Amino acid sequence: MYREKRECCPLCGSADIKEKYRIERYSLHFNTDVCMSCGFIFMNPLFDDNTIKSFYSQDYYNGKADYSYIDERSIKKYSGYVWDSRVKVIHKYIKSGNFLDVGCSFGGFLEAASKYYTPYGIEMSEYSCAHVKELFGERIHCGTLEDNPFKEKSFSVITMIELIEHLDDPVSAIRECYRLMAEGGLLLIQTANMNGKQAKDLGRDYEYYMPGHLSYFSRRNLIMLLKNSGFREVKVFQPVEFGLLPKLLKSRGSFRNLSDYKAWLRIASYHLKSKIHFGDFALTSSMVVYAFK
Ligand SMILES: [Zn+2]
Repeated sequence: MYREKRECCPLCGSADIKEKYRIERYSLHFNTDVCMSCGFIFMNPLFDDNTIKSFYSQDYYNGKADYSYIDERSIKKYSGYVWDSRVKVIHKYIKSGNFLDVGCSFGGFLEAASKYYTPYGIEMSEYSCAHVKELFGERIHCGTLEDNPFKEKSFSVITMIELIEHLDDPVSAIRECYRLMAEGGLLLIQTANMNGKQAKDLGRDYEYYMPGHLSYFSRRNLIMLLKNSGFREVKVFQPVEFGLLPKLLKSRGSFRNLSDYKAWLRIASYHLKSKIHFGDFALTSSMVVYAFK
């Protein structure tokens, strides 16, 4: 069920690590450690490969697992508001070229990106990969970054949206993205900033601690990883790189009656709170990072 315990920080290599939290609110319990040198938080010991694979079965998407995701196909129209807004911002920086979405799920974001770019994807869940292959054929790799078939320097844009926290070796993954990236290309990463006050205040109760999440970054150590991997410029957006409206429109996808619109107050207040950040301090834990090669 578990691999052997790691003795060093998988991000910076320091042996100065100590226990952070034990998470017991899911049927699978796990430990997290924190690196005293770079602040990286990581699952330790990791689940074994078979256990991790089981997180990406059909149950993961249809809500039968206790740490499931919504199947994006059921709320496609609503998620589209966020995907279109994101593509618009990316287009300000990169006008055309090959676009790789790592962890492309059912391909909804790639469909939005295909307005300007040639879409490619990597997806390790056999369940969603079968679906996305029907849309984009051979440009989809059912597997991981580790065994991808793509040529070096072939992409102008690579995106990892809520993906990097699922990886057991994010250092190799970012190096591989750098290798695949054309000169001047853009790598987009969305993950939680564990150094945000929201994550710190909630402690072990922070929702980001879940069995599928193996790597927990902060704004600072994610920038460190990107710079050390060769990216020349890193831009951080908090909470995200687009405005509030697409988020409100997307949220309607889960609304069932009029009173659900009360959620808009919560979403708007969260968005505004997320605007409060300076240096390494941030009130909430949402961030999106644009790294340029
Ligand atoms: Zn470290």
